[in-house]
Amino acid sequence: MTNKLRYFIANWKMYGDLPSLKVLKDINFFLGKNKKTYRPKVVACVPSTLIKMFSIKMRDSRISIGAQNCHLYEGYGPHTGSISTLMLKNSGAKYIILGHSDNRQEGETNQQLKQKINLSLNQKMKVIFCIGETLNERKKNKTYNVLTNQLNNILNKNLNFNNIIFAYEPVWSIGTGKIPKLLELEKVIKFIKNFLRKKLKIAKYPKVIYGGSVNPDNVHIFSSINEIDGFLIGSASLSSKKFIDIIKNYYR
Ligand code: PEP
Repeated sequence: MTNKLRYFIANWKMYGDLPSLKVLKDINFFLGKNKKTYRPKVVACVPSTLIKMFSIKMRDSRISIGAQNCHLYEGYGPHTGSISTLMLKNSGAKYIILGHSDNRQEGETNQQLKQKINLSLNQKMKVIFCIGETLNERKKNKTYNVLTNQLNNILNKNLNFNNIIFAYEPVWSIGTGKIPKLLELEKVIKFIKNFLRKKLKIAKYPKVIYGGSVNPDNVHIFSSINEIDGFLIGSASLSSKKFIDIIKNYYR
């Protein structure tokens, strides 16, 4: 195990309220005791209602706060029920999840995502950009076509790729308890890294994390794939014990 930085990114989705701050405090306490040889970077992408308060309360902690989506319009405007990147940034969000399959399934398009990535980077937030195939696409052996398409659609040489973390989240794995076979996963992660490096003509490989049913029991097997730069964690991130056990078991 190298001491390479690894991301452990919590996606709380539409869960959490003010007392849930305790979850982050417990994780932060654990991080404070962590062996210096390991470098876990923890980000908590919480509902918009909690960003401001949690950013203030966790200001001097080891945890960064992130958002989960934004509106297409920059700044302030007549968009009922929506939140812009400017508002998220001003609330304290340092990261933002974009392209989650929950939102793609509700109609979010590649074109919209391209715009949202631009807006988020303009606000100096780091983007966690989700890509992944559905079960149907996998059955039809379309995984690589889907990923290529999702990536090609956002590529633009002017983007600062140092501020984008790519999250490979096979849709069939999210919330199902199913995870990809290790060899398949390794192949996909390497494909994404090589594809981006080649397309963008960049010297460094971009960061690619994995998401989909990661839990304390299965996380250790992923440590054999050195190319995985971390994890996007949904349901298990709502419990401090499970989240801490994920970090502990990964480095076990
Ligand atoms: C997610 O929704 O991004 C996710 C990875 O969920 P889960 O860990 O619950 O599969």
